[in-house]
Amino acid sequence: MAIDETPSSIFAPWPDRLRHSAIILLAAGLALTVLVALGELPLVAAAAAFALIVAAALVPWRLHDAAASRDDVRTEDPVEAAAVNAIVAGMPDPAVLLDRAGRVIHLNAAASQLAPALRKNELAQFALRSPEIITALREAIATTQPRRATYLDQVPIDRWMELVITPVPVPTRFGGADKCMLMTFHDLTPLRRVEEMRADFVANASHELRTPLAALSGFIDTLQGPARDDPKARERFLGIMQAQARRMARLIDDLLSLSRVELSAHVRPDTLVDLVPIIRQVVDGLEALASERQVEIDVDLPEPPVTIAGDREELLRLFENLIENALKYGASGGRVVVSLTTFAPAKAGGAGEGAPEYRVLVRDFGPGIAPEHLPRLTERFYRVDVGDSRAQGGTGLGLSLVKHILARHRGRLLIESVPKSGATFTACFPQLRPPTTT
Ligand code: ADP
Repeated sequence: MAIDETPSSIFAPWPDRLRHSAIILLAAGLALTVLVALGELPLVAAAAAFALIVAAALVPWRLHDAAASRDDVRTEDPVEAAAVNAIVAGMPDPAVLLDRAGRVIHLNAAASQLAPALRKNELAQFALRSPEIITALREAIATTQPRRATYLDQVPIDRWMELVITPVPVPTRFGGADKCMLMTFHDLTPLRRVEEMRADFVANASHELRTPLAALSGFIDTLQGPARDDPKARERFLGIMQAQARRMARLIDDLLSLSRVELSAHVRPDTLVDLVPIIRQVVDGLEALASERQVEIDVDLPEPPVTIAGDREELLRLFENLIENALKYGASGGRVVVSLTTFAPAKAGGAGEGAPEYRVLVRDFGPGIAPEHLPRLTERFYRVDVGDSRAQGGTGLGLSLVKHILARHRGRLLIESVPKSGATFTACFPQLRPPTTT
């Protein structure tokens, strides 16, 4: 059962402080009136006494009120509350304004999303339980100097955050300024990822170069030592050394092409090129490899021109990689189909699925690729079977290069495969917009 704690006197609706003062004044007034009526106290003395009692009852009330407002300011309502709130809310990164004790005054939506435990008027130390943050907060409060802390947030995914705590004077309602702490969070995850990728890339490239280099130096030792006077062994070893040297050259070539394309990734090619002769040139160049692998190349191209804004050399490289892969990895199918189609969506929109495209399909009928590998094929040095790729003279960089070239052309790569039935790699290019007639 609910208990009604409301006092039932005539003062009930009055605030506590006012109620107490009113009772004191009423009692004093009654006592003085009785004394004056009995002739025990002159009226003037009674009036003076009453004035003193009124002052005594009201002054502490005023003091209490002032202290309470200062407390309000510190905990939740700094003077320029609306302005401060708007600034914190408008910050693009997660931001929290704290008072001197570390209590949250304001926080923006990004901060609540990042740390849902952070709540207004509650201590940030309780919400952010990282010892590093607590130390930084304590130091910033003690020294009034900015402090930084980095920490790893692992739920729901790994995120590296940097937190900066900056002491800021916030103007108060009574003039002057209250020392507050502005805590901002910066997501370092993308930078860390790039750093990890760079380190992985250097490790992979060094490893790929070291393997043929070790083979070369081993054969040089053998030729200088045990095989010095063995012309047959010399011939064989020189052949292997030549293949290894070519492999290194190919790797360096691919690495340089990749870095060139990456450097110019933001500059879209502006030369008009016809896709049809470029594809034909690549197919002609790979006829020797096709007959060596006993694969027939079927070409199904429309009448030229099929014009896009493109870089001829890069496009040659792109089709060479796709068709060579089909000949190398899909040779067992005995057939490779290279075709060019026009893709016109029902509703033409911006880039991607909804925009008109030219699509160059390279289809083979080999073993295909298991679905778990598909999303990773365009990563640098990713290979389904490293041994197979090396045996085919692969570097693991071909599809990565293809992806970057397509990105520069504002296109995209689609990969489909049914294991045991082959694979289809589709290079999609946005069609040129027809000139607008005015
Ligand atoms: P690589 O130099 O090894 O050929 P790529 O980046 O061109 O490097 O290809 C990455 C991997 O993708 C290859 O090692 C191979 O395992 C797989 N792959 C590429 N094309 C095909 C294909 N047509 N059929 C089956 N697997 C393929």
